[in-house]
Amino acid sequence: MSKPKYVVNIDDVNGLSVQEKKDLKKVVEKYAFRANEYYLGLINWNDPKDPIRRLVVPTMEELNEWGELDASMEHKYSPVKGLEHKYRDTAVLLVSDVCGAFCRYCFRKRIFMRENQEVTRDVTEGINYIEKHPEITNVLLTGGDPLVMATPKLEAIIRRIREINHVKIIRIGTKMAAFNPYRIVEDDSLTDMIKKYSLPDKRIYVINHFNHPNEITEVAEKAIQKLHNAGAIMCNQTPMIAGINDNPEALAGLFKKLSFIGVPPYYVFQCRPTAGNKPYAVPIEKGHQIFMEAFEKCSGLAKRARFAMSHATGKIEILATDKKNIYMRYHRAADPRDYKKFMVFKRNPEAYWLDDYAEYASMKKELQTAGT
Ligand code: SF4
Repeated sequence: MSKPKYVVNIDDVNGLSVQEKKDLKKVVEKYAFRANEYYLGLINWNDPKDPIRRLVVPTMEELNEWGELDASMEHKYSPVKGLEHKYRDTAVLLVSDVCGAFCRYCFRKRIFMRENQEVTRDVTEGINYIEKHPEITNVLLTGGDPLVMATPKLEAIIRRIREINHVKIIRIGTKMAAFNPYRIVEDDSLTDMIKKYSLPDKRIYVINHFNHPNEITEVAEKAIQKLHNAGAIMCNQTPMIAGINDNPEALAGLFKKLSFIGVPPYYVFQCRPTAGNKPYAVPIEKGHQIFMEAFEKCSGLAKRARFAMSHATGKIEILATDKKNIYMRYHRAADPRDYKKFMVFKRNPEAYWLDDYAEYASMKKELQTAGT
């Protein structure tokens, strides 16, 4: 199969029954649906618990009221349209408002909504901002998926960023090697462009997004090989998602396969409490246990990920639990003073987010009352 066709209408998903299609229309009216023939072709329709099905086909429970559309308050860190600057050395440019398919658990599903204005096709303002901030050494291109863009458009952005001397690393956050590896395999101009701009002293990193080992198909491996050959540095991040990779076997299987193909696991994220995500979220402490059990099955190279929560205040690494407590620290902090914090909270097996720990909630309240 080459250039798989997009499937944007739930009626066109052949594996679903007439009744399922009818029911799921209520969900897709609220949270957009998008898939493609290649990705849908990975589903075993005889298995109602198939992980790929879970990832891309909606479920009625998405309609359960829970969470917020922008759970990590990304908008708070957006000094100009289409750019986020939360951590001193890293800027995020939202360059695309669409992906190769839509993950049902997406934490940025708000940008796929018609009324959303956060992404801009014209990134001039964002690039001017980066130019004026010499502390920014890393720029992450994301959205949406930058590889949905035609290569010349993406190249125009990368060329412009490469003219800024203080930016050393350009990251491309993409799930295309999983959703539609043909996008990479069949476009030599994309890998030629990466070769041109991934320099010995200023690399392009491709931050992949494989969630389950079933996504690492032969053609996905070819895509990864091609990116490697072009000189891209690779890594992978994934959230822990109920019914997809929330068991040690699936997670260890993913870590191992990633290490075999030369894509180091980088982050495993706690699923954000984003609206519509209740069916996909795993409580933090259970998630940490699964993560540690998966590690027991892996070689050192396969267990390089951190289990972290992308909280409004920073990336918080979940380090350990014992009978009484859970231990966390800031891996990345929006306020540099937070790097000194080592957090110990009484265990709460029902916690899905930092704010669900009573001590954090009262600490936050005190700070708000003090006006800091
Ligand atoms: S690839 Fe990322 S931005 Fe795109 S739908 Fe999935 S989680 Fe959302």
